[in-house]
Amino acid sequence: MIRSVAVVGAGAAGLVTARELLRAGFEVTVFEEAHAPGGVWIYTPNVETDPLGQVGERIHSSLYASLHTNLPRDIMAFDDYPFDSSGGGHDDWPRFPEHTRVLEYLERFTRDFDLEPHIQFRARVTALEPTASGWRMRIAQADGEALREFDAVAVCSGHFAAPRVPQLDGADAFPGTQMHSHNYREPSAFRDRRVALLGTSASGLDLSREIAGVAARTYWCGELFDELPDAHRHEGRLSRLPAIDALRSDGRLVLRDGSTTEPIDDLVYCTGYHYRYPFIDSTLLTIDDNWVQPLYRDLLHIEHPTLALVGVPFRVLPFPLFEMQARWFARLLGGHFRLPPASAMHDHTAREIEALRAKGVKQRHFHQRTIDCFDYLDALADEAGVARAPAWRRQTAAALLAVLEKSRGNARNTPIPHFAPTVVPDDSIAR
Ligand code: FAD
Repeated sequence: MIRSVAVVGAGAAGLVTARELLRAGFEVTVFEEAHAPGGVWIYTPNVETDPLGQVGERIHSSLYASLHTNLPRDIMAFDDYPFDSSGGGHDDWPRFPEHTRVLEYLERFTRDFDLEPHIQFRARVTALEPTASGWRMRIAQADGEALREFDAVAVCSGHFAAPRVPQLDGADAFPGTQMHSHNYREPSAFRDRRVALLGTSASGLDLSREIAGVAARTYWCGELFDELPDAHRHEGRLSRLPAIDALRSDGRLVLRDGSTTEPIDDLVYCTGYHYRYPFIDSTLLTIDDNWVQPLYRDLLHIEHPTLALVGVPFRVLPFPLFEMQARWFARLLGGHFRLPPASAMHDHTAREIEALRAKGVKQRHFHQRTIDCFDYLDALADEAGVARAPAWRRQTAAALLAVLEKSRGNARNTPIPHFAPTVVPDDSIAR
């Protein structure tokens, strides 16, 4: 019989998980190490002392000052809390709003669902271990350490705070500066310099464009998209190059095609993040080349099925995915459906991994899905016996993917077909 549930983290995942658990009638305590809800959306101009983010004190947020969402707010929002005036937004906000708007949305979510009384701020979970009947947690707070026991735990601690920096040959002797996008806030330090960026995902896309606005030359290196996205074409001092294989002591980069660049002053790694759960012992959870195990449906600990890790899949629609995972976990804890035996859950995961390996997917991408993550969401909904995501989500995702394909990764300046009930500005809708 589950009564008390702890939630680690009060970012988007922790907030919606707390709401779903409260709705299902559980006693919920959220532990949040920051002073406020919002997680990654709490912007700070501060950066870590190690620009690569490998050692020293850590800063949670990876936001840069100019960041706008990379999803239209209609499809980004939780299912029953639109990003307009009927939920946590405004009707006239841009369809890809500034990061401050997302924080506002999450703050309003916290207020509207009366979550704050359930959250302990400035409370860092430092250890989590199973007991005969549930879980024991060690929590560090200003007034000392506390031990608390719970029947179940949802870990919602995020995975965009521990920078992944590939080991490039020659990195130690490279004379230029090296930093990770986690510690990038604005471009002024790059004025009139020769800058290279490695990585073609969301942060590489945004930072290459912003830095190209001030740098003498900008080289954007990586594997995806041979050509520059439309939004970057006006930047004459920006070139698209293959991935970097090595760094040389004269400052030049050796590229995947064997060519070399001119000497570079600054290298910015836009190479993503590691999963990191420092409060969970490695005998309980292993992270091997960014693959977290043993999980059923990328969510539930197979051997300890009262422990869920919400938000593990990436390149998805994060908020709706967190919401469905949270609903699934709340229904599981409430006894509304039965799990398959552990051996069948292991087999289920093994089959998924086999299929990924057969497609040549690298292990560090095993938790990667796409914006079109509805088969996954529907499987959770069906298993838990709750409503599937509304049809307009699939329609919007398909339209968005088509625009992303055409614009080579930047949909922000292109009107997109609109299917959601959310109110968005007229000029952002493709007719
Ligand atoms: P987080 O927001 O990271 O929250 C985790 C919380 O857990 C934090 O508050 C942290 O302080 C707390 N915590 C961690 N460890 C502990 C501990 N031991 N004890 C107590 N508390 C702890 N998503 C979108 O939908 N649209 C976008 O446009 C978008 N843009 C993004 C841009 C950037 C640069 C980044 C990094 C991410 C972006 N994302 C975007 C993804 C974003 O991370 C998710 O949308 C979502 O906000 C993540 O929520 P989360 O709750 O999983 O993690």
